[in-house]
Amino acid sequence: MTVDFTMQIAQVVSCTEAEGPGKRFALWFQGCPLRCPGCCNPEFLAFKGGTTKTLRETVEWIQKARDESGIEGITLLGGEPTAHATAAISLAKAARELGLSVMTFTGFTLEELQEKGEPDVAELIGLTDILVDGPYVREQPDTERRWIGSRNQRIHFLTPRYSLDEQWRQRNTLEIRVVGGEVSVNGFPAANAVGLWKGWKRKKSVPLPVVAETKSAAQGADTK
Ligand code: SF4
Repeated sequence: MTVDFTMQIAQVVSCTEAEGPGKRFALWFQGCPLRCPGCCNPEFLAFKGGTTKTLRETVEWIQKARDESGIEGITLLGGEPTAHATAAISLAKAARELGLSVMTFTGFTLEELQEKGEPDVAELIGLTDILVDGPYVREQPDTERRWIGSRNQRIHFLTPRYSLDEQWRQRNTLEIRVVGGEVSVNGFPAANAVGLWKGWKRKKSVPLPVVAETKSAAQGADTK
């Protein structure tokens, strides 16, 4: 890696099974140009905020998760990953060099992204194994496809690495962690779990890479 730069990160869970197949490093970018009614993470929408991390330290964080937790891939969420394409591309490239897969959630449809004709967005798509597209529609919660927020959203398997196998048919997954008295929640929030996190205060900072697991007290970090 020759060029380092910074990115704005809303949240990281260094090893999760609630954001795609297998164990994954999940990273939520800070900032989204869309405004889906019912978005679970309104704090992630503004482009100002979050925590600034360099590419180098974020890649080291991913490598640490691979070596210590045996993650099989990274998942990029938001915020909106395509609005952070330069950072997302670099993370996707680094993940591939580490032998990891890449899953990307976007609030745009694949067609909308293609019509944009933006080379960096196209490059990100080209580095993605699984793309989940489309805005989150609150009125259409998806309880059939694990990891998917609403029924309008589509799963694009862009490489042969994954397919719509049995693990996608399981119920949505919600993870709750308590680390040092702080609580983090991620995964698609089942309706009956909403009350579990809405009363909890979100901690603003992103945990440092040296910390074994996120200590962020989240409100259900899913913007799917
Ligand atoms: S659900 Fe996702 S795409 Fe929609 S406003 Fe929230 S962060 Fe943006």
